Amino acid sequence: MESNIINEKIFDVEKIRNDFPILHQLVHKKPLCYLDNAASTQKPKIVIDSINDFYSTTNSNIHRGVHFLSEKATQKYENTRTTVKNFINAKSEKEIIFTSGTTASINLVAQSFGKKYVNEDDEIIVTYMEHHSNIVPWQILCEEKNVNLRVLPINNNGELILEKFNELITERTKLISVVHVSNSLGTINPIEEIIKIAHQNNIPVLVDAAQSIQHTSIDVQKLDCDFLAYSGHKIYGPTGVGVLFGKEKLLDEMPPFMGGGDMIAKVTFDETTYNELPYKFEAGTGNIAGVIGLGAAIDYVKSIGLEKIHKHENQLLEIATQKVSEIKGLKIIGTAKEKTSVLSFIVENIHPHDIGTFMDFEGVAIRTGHHCTQPVMDFFKIPATSRASFSFYNSLEDIDQFIIALKKTIEALS
Ligand code: PMP
Repeated sequence: MESNIINEKIFDVEKIRNDFPILHQLVHKKPLCYLDNAASTQKPKIVIDSINDFYSTTNSNIHRGVHFLSEKATQKYENTRTTVKNFINAKSEKEIIFTSGTTASINLVAQSFGKKYVNEDDEIIVTYMEHHSNIVPWQILCEEKNVNLRVLPINNNGELILEKFNELITERTKLISVVHVSNSLGTINPIEEIIKIAHQNNIPVLVDAAQSIQHTSIDVQKLDCDFLAYSGHKIYGPTGVGVLFGKEKLLDEMPPFMGGGDMIAKVTFDETTYNELPYKFEAGTGNIAGVIGLGAAIDYVKSIGLEKIHKHENQLLEIATQKVSEIKGLKIIGTAKEKTSVLSFIVENIHPHDIGTFMDFEGVAIRTGHHCTQPVMDFFKIPATSRASFSFYNSLEDIDQFIIALKKTIEALS
């Protein structure tokens, strides 16, 4: 398929690219072709400006001040909580906790939910395609409490084998923690079905939405997930900020994860009582500017529309997949029926790192390595993959530049 026959012009990519200052530069004298969006997305000017504006006009600590700047900063911070709540359709702001990212959100649940609800010989289920940040926090809990981690397997296409839940779920299963979209395979997991299976067995579910929140609209009430975690920097917001959604009833019963300022109601040496939700889980001064930047990012994404974003990115994936499939010696890793935005591949007799380095000289930014999913690499018996990942600001010209660079790279390194 020729890239000029994109079947539907969904929106004006050139206009969108103008919102992203970083995209307009040369790398090694070639136009930058940024295809490392699964690692981190670029920031629109509106997000950069919102952070600049905060530090230029509003900077102050929140919640504890009565002065003008503190109240203004608090209002902006709390407005973002409402933006996030509406974005994922949570019932209440109490269910939205600001963290430093997906990793911090999952660790919070592992430690706090783990402390309250998980006991010796209990079981936690994850899947074979989890990011390390949805494996290691559970392993730490398992070690601390003598708990067993059980793993739902995948098939050769990189899809979960759901039937195996029958063998894994027991009366000792306390939580299922599952990635929505795999960062190394691109698989979209059927989380609706997984949540249904879990709830039939009275098991809560945590959804790692780090790779889905930027591609598809999520309604936590419709999904009925118990926890959901994501990072600001993957959805065109700043680094160092993220979200944990949790059902109010669960969060209410869970003990604090960190102690310190802001998370208390009253402190004496005899007894300390804790603040109400969501502040109970937000000890210390958070990333105020980051939270405000995340709010601007969500508003920006909403103004474009996740449906259009999803459609455009799927077309890019489809076209890129067809084009790389024609390259001799190249094998795609991750061929699930339901995929989005991630194209992982290996090339016979060439190490992915060499591919990434060579492509960089052509101005093409892709990621190579295990993508923090070493069990996935072990499953496919490979050390690493090369991964191109797409965003709505990528154009057909980007795909052409990527394919030309890849062919040139393979020719040079074969
Ligand atoms: N889960 C998935 C699926 C991811 O892709 C990532 C980031 N690569 C994470 C979790 C961790 O996100 P962060 O590093 O922003 O905490």
